[in-house]
Amino acid sequence: MSQREFLLYDTMTRQVKPLQPLEPGHLKFYSCGPTVYSYAHIGNFRTFLTADLICRVARALGWRVTYVSNITDVGHLTEDDVADATGEDKMQRALQSKEGEQFANVWELADYYAEAFKADWRKLNLNEPMLWPKATQHMREQIVAVEKLIETGHAYVTPSAVYFRLSSFPEYGKLSGNLNKDSLQVGVRDVVVDDSKEHPGDFALWKRDEKHLMQWFSPWGWGFPGWHIECSVMAMAYLGETIDLHAGGEDLVFPHHESEIAQSECLTGHTFANHWIHTRFLQVDGEKMSKRTGNWYTVRDLVDQQGANPLALRYALMTVPYGKTLNFTMQTLRDATTAVERYAECERLAELALKKSPSGQSATAFAEELERLYEETLDALCNDLNTSVALAKGFEGTKVILRDATHLTHEQGQVARQWLDRINDLLGILRSQYADAATGDRGSAEESAALALMDARQKAKSEKDFGLADRLRSEIEAMGFEVRDTPEGPVLRRLSGLN
Ligand code: AMP
Ligand code: ZN
Repeated sequence: MSQREFLLYDTMTRQVKPLQPLEPGHLKFYSCGPTVYSYAHIGNFRTFLTADLICRVARALGWRVTYVSNITDVGHLTEDDVADATGEDKMQRALQSKEGEQFANVWELADYYAEAFKADWRKLNLNEPMLWPKATQHMREQIVAVEKLIETGHAYVTPSAVYFRLSSFPEYGKLSGNLNKDSLQVGVRDVVVDDSKEHPGDFALWKRDEKHLMQWFSPWGWGFPGWHIECSVMAMAYLGETIDLHAGGEDLVFPHHESEIAQSECLTGHTFANHWIHTRFLQVDGEKMSKRTGNWYTVRDLVDQQGANPLALRYALMTVPYGKTLNFTMQTLRDATTAVERYAECERLAELALKKSPSGQSATAFAEELERLYEETLDALCNDLNTSVALAKGFEGTKVILRDATHLTHEQGQVARQWLDRINDLLGILRSQYADAATGDRGSAEESAALALMDARQKAKSEKDFGLADRLRSEIEAMGFEVRDTPEGPVLRRLSGLN
């Protein structure tokens, strides 16, 4: 196991500190997942990418990682930061929308978007968690937890709901700094207006609602759970009463994570999570993403509709470290496309070198240069996930390989290939671990057809039928590919559609 420290900013202590698993070398990590009422957008994926990089770094340090990321498939209140007192939930609203017409019911809608989410996750080459627990599959645990909170005086029942009693947990606010309970606003996500509440900031653990599309039977009547309780019970069910690291986007600090801490610590009497990490929001063209202004992107908009290379999108999302706002623009994506193509070129050169006979020359100096850059890439990631420095170090490595280009010896080819594999394990930007992820089935079928046309064009050229060769090139381009003639023969490349 590496002796390196993995430094990460901790929202709770407000400082950068080493991530220290309770069980040395085994990280138990929970990251809040999406609410599946629509396609996740690239901002959501910026947050999930932070979690993915943490897992990759931990594994590079030789740690075992138990990583759990939930799926919220029970709808909660309508707006992210303004609660809707009437209790209309996101899932219900989605079902009543135009897109919702294709679903027979809200369960089908949730299933559809959960699967779409996983497909996008794979496109971005994110490691799968050990488990994707769903809120609807943990209803019994949520009800049991609420019962226990009532028994111990941390919660109370009203005619319409069960609420967590903020006054029973004096530490409420320790994560977010919202320590003045009297200032807790009605109208914050999941804080419901109800005259029978003891304190306006008390948050719902259970809502009674016999008309709700998703409802379960509980000791407090038919209804559904509050948003925060699901993460407390799922994290503890799979990772234990104290977890090493808990992650989410910046908007989750309050009230979601603050409330998770209150519930969990009142249930167990122990610290819920030893380290908290939050990803700053992604903006598009300098503004908050908004469907209304049209600067709203999903992975499928960019990859399936606009032909972006999903690994380039992943690269683009890493260009700014997670703790700073990332301003995503099409130019960021174009630059990232050039960068991942450089890596592809390095892979091609390494393969080419490996086809040569061994030269008998030492590749030690070359290996040392690349090894140093790998170590520096890992150092940057261990320094509070400094992805911009990590990408710059990786880029320097590609320069080393491209410098020798076709002159790489067989031995250097071996070194380069190993380096590329290790960098890919760390950054995930060269090759996807999922066979169908880059372009989906559509992609592989199209690519085979384009390759066949490329061979036909090559044959036409060798027979000096240049007219046919040009027509075939145009056909290949119409399919979204281009042929590059290189000294080693023609190479097919997918056009990104972003040019
Ligand atoms: P939600 O589906 O709204 O619960 O969001 C899923 C995850 O994405 C949460 O961790 C959010 O904090 C995070 N998130 C939402 N919007 C953004 C954004 N624009 N940039 C980064 N993360 C986001
Ligand atoms: Zn959560």
